[in-house]
Amino acid sequence: MSVNITFLGGTGTVTGSKYLVQHDGKKLLVDCGLFQGFKQLRLRNWNPMPIEAADVDSVLLTHAHLDHSGYLPLLYRQGYRGHVHATPATCDLCAILLPDSGHIQEEDAAFVNRHGYTKHEPAMPLYGKHDALQSLQLLKPEREGISFSPLPGWKATFSHAGHILGAASILLEVADRRILFSGDLGRPDDLVMKAPDLPPDADTVLIESTYGNREHPKEDVLAELAPALKRVAARGGVAVVPVFAVGRAQALLHAIALLKERGEIPHGLPIFLDSPMAVHTTELLPRHPEAHRLDAKALNVLKHIATMVETPEQSKALAKHHGPMVILSASGMATGGRVLHHLAHYLPDHRNMVILTGYQAPGTRGATLASGSGVVRIHGQDVAVQAEVVQLQSSSAHADAVQLVDWLGHMKTKPDQVYVVHGEPEASDALRQRIERELKLRAVVPEHGSTWPC
Ligand SMILES: [Zn+2]
Repeated sequence: MSVNITFLGGTGTVTGSKYLVQHDGKKLLVDCGLFQGFKQLRLRNWNPMPIEAADVDSVLLTHAHLDHSGYLPLLYRQGYRGHVHATPATCDLCAILLPDSGHIQEEDAAFVNRHGYTKHEPAMPLYGKHDALQSLQLLKPEREGISFSPLPGWKATFSHAGHILGAASILLEVADRRILFSGDLGRPDDLVMKAPDLPPDADTVLIESTYGNREHPKEDVLAELAPALKRVAARGGVAVVPVFAVGRAQALLHAIALLKERGEIPHGLPIFLDSPMAVHTTELLPRHPEAHRLDAKALNVLKHIATMVETPEQSKALAKHHGPMVILSASGMATGGRVLHHLAHYLPDHRNMVILTGYQAPGTRGATLASGSGVVRIHGQDVAVQAEVVQLQSSSAHADAVQLVDWLGHMKTKPDQVYVVHGEPEASDALRQRIERELKLRAVVPEHGSTWPC
């Protein structure tokens, strides 16, 4: 009986990761992510899945980012009641991220309805906070390095992927086939996260390709961040930093702490962390010391480096402060969240600055800003972009092309088949070519919705 895999997301895009593995009538889903970015991608979230949610037998998550976990509340609402296996830190992070995702979608729908700029009345959220809270009951923590059985006769093992807290690669073993899902792979030289584990041997590999056509610059994030922050501080401006609440927020705070300690930026430069999720994520770091490089002293500095902004009222009150100051706020690609209010407020002034910190998926406001556009649409209004836009090239939470090929090259025996996923088309194809050329492996970039043997 063969094993096959259907690519329900995360192909031709970095979002919507959903890989359906089928064998002998059983259906297991690896990742359960939301599509983000371009509207035609986001609309896919509303399309029914090609299988009934209740017919899925088990779910595994590589990590908690919404493009890998954010569909879970919908899967639950559609009738899925099986387990969702994930590392303990991923379970903790889902408990923060998923209810917030439901809340943001309710808020966005309510905002659209209040301001009447929807073509479809009334706007509905994809799911709400209540659905998200319900779906958390399905989470089942599994430790890295300890195999478990998601279904009778199936075996799965998480290993450290180094991308964010709890991020894992997954080795799935069924019917004498070993299928390795890289998940999102971190970089070996990250300031906060430990390097990814070397890959175990497998017959089939799915490898991510976010940076499949790019190499990170040699200079580190500190060397890139210091002059930008010095510049904005000198002109009394405000730096708005859209951050992924989980991952880049902590990495940026740690980098700012190091720069202050070294005297490379003014010690008194006020820093605000305006994201309750980021605050809660920062608090999780001491609970998972095995996953990161920060010792007790560094964690303590991290806790006190920024003023934590909790309530929406405190967030809005930030607009009354004068620069210089730095506001870190979610979301990282400016697709939603509190950062939108800050951008709308600070973008029209040339003294201010936007610092983009991670991958900006096409179609997001972050990508619009990165492209140098003079205007960006926020809450139905055109906002003039007068502020300086800085895109950090060195703060990514993903391995680059060289690091991805290097990771794959560490497998002791060659896999039969490599599927290149989780990338824009040009990035995935560039990585496919490199893998074929440099590692002499068979690699394909599967089409969205297609089914392949494992
Ligand atoms: Zn991720």
